[in-house]
Amino acid sequence: MDSRAIEEIVADVLSKMNGGNNAAASTAKPSAAIKPPARRTTNPAAHKPPQGKRMGVYPDAESAVEAAREGFDALRKKGYEGRAKVVEIVKSMCAAKANEWGKVELEETGIGRLDHKIEKLHALGNVPGVEWLKPYGMSGDHGISMEENSPFGVIAAITPVTHSVPTLAGNIINMVAAGNSIVANAHPGGAKCAAMAVDSFNREIERQIGIRNLVTIIESPTLESFDALCASSGIDLLCVTGGPGVVKAAMSSGKRAICAGPGNPPVVVDSCADLDKAARDIITGGAYDNNLLCIGEKQVFILDKVFDKFLAAFQKAGAHQLSAKQLEALTSEAFTTSKDAGGCSHPVLNRDLVGASPEILASRGGARVPAGSQLLFAETDASHEFVQEEQMMPMIPVVRVRDIEQAIQLAKQSEHGYRHSAMIHTTHVGHMTRMGQALESTIFVKNGPCVAGLGLGGEGYISFSIATTTGEGITTPQTFTRRRRCVLVDALNVG
Ligand code: NAD
Repeated sequence: MDSRAIEEIVADVLSKMNGGNNAAASTAKPSAAIKPPARRTTNPAAHKPPQGKRMGVYPDAESAVEAAREGFDALRKKGYEGRAKVVEIVKSMCAAKANEWGKVELEETGIGRLDHKIEKLHALGNVPGVEWLKPYGMSGDHGISMEENSPFGVIAAITPVTHSVPTLAGNIINMVAAGNSIVANAHPGGAKCAAMAVDSFNREIERQIGIRNLVTIIESPTLESFDALCASSGIDLLCVTGGPGVVKAAMSSGKRAICAGPGNPPVVVDSCADLDKAARDIITGGAYDNNLLCIGEKQVFILDKVFDKFLAAFQKAGAHQLSAKQLEALTSEAFTTSKDAGGCSHPVLNRDLVGASPEILASRGGARVPAGSQLLFAETDASHEFVQEEQMMPMIPVVRVRDIEQAIQLAKQSEHGYRHSAMIHTTHVGHMTRMGQALESTIFVKNGPCVAGLGLGGEGYISFSIATTTGEGITTPQTFTRRRRCVLVDALNVG
């Protein structure tokens, strides 16, 4: 029996003795104890995880970066075939373990819905892989040139609590297809399930193609571990998926950053829309994972002419209306303007209610809805907290507007220039065009739920990192490459 087999048996036994939390994990030093920026080293013996440790899970940024550098060097030797194999492994593991991992993520984060957590893991099958990398060739009197897509190296991936494993897995597929390795700094609220997935991916990647530590993760992520990754000379690129705070931090770090930032997607329903379909679509998108999607419908502007009819259609399709009093009670629970909570001039979201179920939200408003209800709604004006803030709750404010001009203007204002996602329900092509031109959102869905913008019911591929702030759009392997030109002068121009 070789030493690696013994190491795996010991890891398995320790893990069982500790109910899944291994001994090394519980005694790990906090990652606040960051050492100076990492050196690049490729000593293969240096970064084997200690016995009983999960593969790829490290206590600090420096060791995680150094191990991922080894993973990167090993991947280079395996060529495109190796990358494609990793993509296949990650996709097939996400599909095979969707039920188990979806449950683990829900139990850890306590937000969202199990059916959608499972569905998101299956959706990873539609993330593009190595086939996306297309070189560009030029031939002429002076020979030939080829522009190719090269990896950056080691990428630090910062992932959100709203889709911890799906974002991590989607990033791995995109980044490894492009030839990179990854160090993840997950949201602390979803760090355990992310570490579990990293360990599982690494074990299978090693079993099938012999690469260790292609993906590493910081066991107990902190703001300090994020700073250490930003400062590390071993990190070649940052990719952050999250809200305004992390985007700002990444963009002021001095490292190149691809930023998949926040949104607050508005929906417009005009007078020529199919109201029953619009109602069903808004429930599909706004209720998805209890409205945790960054692309999810967050507020709806409806033309006065069809407002009452739309509300009837919304109720018929299963959405439950809160009264003005119930909305007021829920709003006071969902937001605070207290100075202590950092509010004051700006309402602050009560994170305890993010991704909560409609039953819980209704009860906080003093209402009762049947178990299994998908979505709540309430009539508000355009300045209401539920309209202006990215609330990530299955409670959608509906706003009555005079005409399409006012609908588009208020939709644009409520999106706050994030240029993330927007939806319209109409058969009027001119209205579609005007809204698309006015909002300039990265994703613009006409006559469908938001998820159609990520290939779920619409055409196209998916990624859980939509680079809105920095403009790369729905990320693909191409996003994580450097373009390089290779020139041969006065030869091989055989055309
Ligand atoms: P979050 O901003 O609280 O956390 C995201 C990540 O950033 C986490 O890993 C967190 O630990 C880290 N982080 C947060 N503040 C930081 C700071 N100041 N310095 C360093 N790191 C920091 O977001 P969340 O609640 O996990 O996720 C929801 C947010 O993410 C929403 O705003 C949503 O729109 C956005 N999001 C965007 C996309 C996209 O593709 N554009 C996808 C998913 C989520």
